[in-house]
Amino acid sequence: MIGIFGGTFDPVHYGHLRSALEVKDIFGLGEVRLIPCANPPHREQPAVTAEMRLQMLELAIKNQPGLKIDTRELDRYDLYQVPSYMVDTLESLRQEFPSEPLLLFIGSDAFTHLTGWHQWQRLFDFAHIVVMTRPGFETQTLDDFFKARLAGVNELAQATAGKLCFQQVTQLDISATAIRDIIARKQNPGFLLPDAVIEYIKQHKLYETH
Ligand code: ATP
Repeated sequence: MIGIFGGTFDPVHYGHLRSALEVKDIFGLGEVRLIPCANPPHREQPAVTAEMRLQMLELAIKNQPGLKIDTRELDRYDLYQVPSYMVDTLESLRQEFPSEPLLLFIGSDAFTHLTGWHQWQRLFDFAHIVVMTRPGFETQTLDDFFKARLAGVNELAQATAGKLCFQQVTQLDISATAIRDIIARKQNPGFLLPDAVIEYIKQHKLYETH
């Protein structure tokens, strides 16, 4: 089983890294692929270049063999300059791994907007979706499309795609937005993201202005 964790990673931080590691263990995944987004369709464009976001990711996961970086969204953008739709990403992963369960991890905030994603129903043709929740999270009344797909952790290995699962993970209250603000205010972002990434940010003078 392969985990998929998409994001802008602008910059990557311990909120991303901790939850990626945790779901790897909870679901017994062979690997979790961190997939940096080239051209996010639902938000502002990233503050720094794709190449820099990628270099920061590389520094962050250097000593974590279970975490991998997958550059297919960046590669696709270089070739076609199209928005980074998750459905295209999952379709290409499915072509590469025809019989492997794929688990797409999203935050509960992202789940509330899922029905706005490009061709969102087709996501389930290619992968399971796991919503990472905080303690105390109450599942909203789900419509029938989602209810029919609900599954527990142990059921996901039995199919390659199509299920919806809610899983509580430790969610550190860290966001890339807050980190960019801290740096722009010339404060210290220590302990929110890896030191190697902080060094890189300093060296390249990233996020110094809003
Ligand atoms: P920004 O503040 O710029 O919007 P972000 O910190 O939310 O960025 P993204 O790269 O946009 O980071 O997020 C990618 C994925 O990581 C999303 O699925 C999001 O729900 C999840 N995520 C973000 N922050 C955390 C966190 N602190 N704990 C767990 N998951 C997180």
